Amino acid sequence: MKSEIMGALVDPVTLEEAVGKVEQFIASRKPHHVVTLNAEILYRARRDPELMKVICGADLVTPDGAGIVWASKRLGSPVPQRVTGIDLMLALAERAGEKGWRLFLYGAEPGVAEEAARNLKKMHPGIRIAGTSHGYLKSEEQEQLIEKIKEAEPHILFVALGAPKQEFWICRNLEKLGVPVCMGVGGSFDVIAGRAKRAPRFMQRAGLEWLYRLVKEPRRFKRMLALPAFAVLVLFESMKKRVFHNFLLL
Ligand code: UDP
Repeated sequence: MKSEIMGALVDPVTLEEAVGKVEQFIASRKPHHVVTLNAEILYRARRDPELMKVICGADLVTPDGAGIVWASKRLGSPVPQRVTGIDLMLALAERAGEKGWRLFLYGAEPGVAEEAARNLKKMHPGIRIAGTSHGYLKSEEQEQLIEKIKEAEPHILFVALGAPKQEFWICRNLEKLGVPVCMGVGGSFDVIAGRAKRAPRFMQRAGLEWLYRLVKEPRRFKRMLALPAFAVLVLFESMKKRVFHNFLLL
């Protein structure tokens, strides 16, 4: 059963379980959309019904970040752990190496997807790279890209255009592409290609990855104001729930 968190339906899965679900999607051969949902995007979706529809229509929605895990606990529908985009992508790359799955990498600046693909192949030689493309194509080049992906017949398509652009792109093209698993991965290609760094482990474990990103990329400040705003909304919602619950007990 899914956990309802501020209007979004999130799968209460561990990383290992998420990989298992993706494996089932691949076995089914039908197209599936995987979303890793963070607090910033969920806050945005509260004001954007189209985005909320895309999230709620996805086949697997993982709790991406400490904010979502915290909210799930406050609201009484806890999820077991964070399953971030980069962690899920790396875990899937490992499984792809064992199973020989074909991966297609679409997104990021020119050259980054190729570099990320090379690094993934070094990590897991069994991986098959079906193709790559950068994420700054002109609109008239989109049809060509769709054809290229269809011809390559990947098992998994990773889309790194940033959220929520990548989620809308996947939703628009999912059926046309027919790829069993399409997943938005934000800035993951930059990290795997070695162009950006992740927060140190202790910060990841303490749920402070957002702070590291803020220090490294101060231009994210405005976007990140969504995090305290999200926390206030969650506290308000949990208070409402508690008052309603106490009222029922009277
Ligand atoms: N990007 C892209 N095309 C665009 C806009 C962004 O390929 O039109 C890429 C950008 O180069 C970067 C990624 O999308 O590699 C966005 O990373 P970010 O960390 O901002 O995404 P988030 O994790 O916040 O969703």
